[in-house]
Amino acid sequence: MDYLPLFFDLRGKRCLIVGGGTIATRKARLLAKANAAIYVVAPYIQPELQTLVSQSGGECYVQCYEKGYLNNTVLVISATDNDRLNQQVSSDCHALNLPVNVVDCPQLCSVITPAIVDRNPLIIGISSGGEAPVLARRIRSHLEATIPGRYGKLAQLASRFRDKVKQTFADGELRRRFWESVLNGEIAEQVLAGNEAQAECAMVQRLAAEDCETGGEVYLVGAGPGDPDLLTFKALRLMQQAEVVLYDRLVSEPILEMVRRDADRIYVGKKRSEHAMPQEAINQTLLSYAQQGKRVLRLKGGDPFIFGRGGEEIDLLAEHNIPFQVVPGITAASGCAAYAGIPLTHRDYSQSVRFITGHLKDGQANLNWQEFVDARQTLVFYMGLVGLEEICAKLIEYGKDADTGAALVERGTLPTQVVHASTLEKLPGLIKGRTVHAPTLIIIGDVVKLHSKLAWFKQTDEIATP
Ligand code: SAH
Repeated sequence: MDYLPLFFDLRGKRCLIVGGGTIATRKARLLAKANAAIYVVAPYIQPELQTLVSQSGGECYVQCYEKGYLNNTVLVISATDNDRLNQQVSSDCHALNLPVNVVDCPQLCSVITPAIVDRNPLIIGISSGGEAPVLARRIRSHLEATIPGRYGKLAQLASRFRDKVKQTFADGELRRRFWESVLNGEIAEQVLAGNEAQAECAMVQRLAAEDCETGGEVYLVGAGPGDPDLLTFKALRLMQQAEVVLYDRLVSEPILEMVRRDADRIYVGKKRSEHAMPQEAINQTLLSYAQQGKRVLRLKGGDPFIFGRGGEEIDLLAEHNIPFQVVPGITAASGCAAYAGIPLTHRDYSQSVRFITGHLKDGQANLNWQEFVDARQTLVFYMGLVGLEEICAKLIEYGKDADTGAALVERGTLPTQVVHASTLEKLPGLIKGRTVHAPTLIIIGDVVKLHSKLAWFKQTDEIATP
């Protein structure tokens, strides 16, 4: 980090601007927002700048700059188009260890001004250390668009009640809960809708009732197929709220990184034939943490309701009246298809798509093969690697064209994704000759033939697709 971000209290303090033109005026507006006492020294000072100076309680010196103007100053901004003068101001300030900003000249600065998102008292400063200002501004516009304008009002409400909340909830964890329920709930919604008086009343009532919503809750969240960018906003919000997280093998490391730092993490496994925790124990663990008043995150690969046993996990919770939320995720079929350039449906090739479990019981996939032979549908087999040969053979046996496109997508959406594209007849042989890493998904249908044209996601692996 080349610069340490700090927030400077300038209220009533003497800040000197050297220069009296447009840029100096822009800087003065910023200082005025921070309630600084603005002083300006320049041979000519624009009228708007003069007004800002007098409103701030400062003074205009219609003079040439001299070192003496730096006395009793806490911050200096040099906004002139005279390089030598800027240099002079900078070296005078450096000699006095006085913070100085020379506009558009980072090498002469000891402090730089960030791009600002202002939701007073909530202030966000973004800086690229002068290296990529356009990028910093892009981030600012992004934040401007996503943080509601009335967030400042919310922060002001929080500030008004801060001491009272501290008195009511001496325990830090309860206090945190209280604030989270306020900021994520109805009270915040009221403020954002402009009903501050109502929000105040609700705050007073909740504090009187010492209501910090300590009931436990479970969030059953789909984490998508692996790429963290495929998480939903809601998933992310709940991931940062939960105190306990139960996750399995399919949840990628970068996604786990996004879970609240101090949350307890419990690995519940689920590798093929190696269950770190049996399903009943997972269900029971969710229940008992929630009964202790915890907010529990059950983080699952893909979508929790697609081959995820999500229904079973919330069944027990429902029986015990534990509140829960289910957050859908991008299922492996959607993720792998998109990242492999294989549209699951296509007007010319496929009018429907089926998600099928390829998990074998006693070495047999007891499926209704007859239903799968229609050429105008796409078949997606989850958990099908072990049964690949059997699946392809059965489909051909029941009448599916041996030349139908078939692909195995390994580690879909991850940087190590590999697509093995072939035909129903040849795919098993192709895979036999290659090392394949779980998880894998099988896509069967003529849409697979579009892969060679539509693939866009760069695979890091060297294997060329035939
Ligand atoms: N609920 C998950 C599926 C869980 S079953 C979902 O909606 O995606 C586990 C199977 O999902 C794996 O055996 C594999 O077939 C598939 N799978 C999950 N993530 C995958 C990925 N990134 N790439 C390929 N297949 C994946």
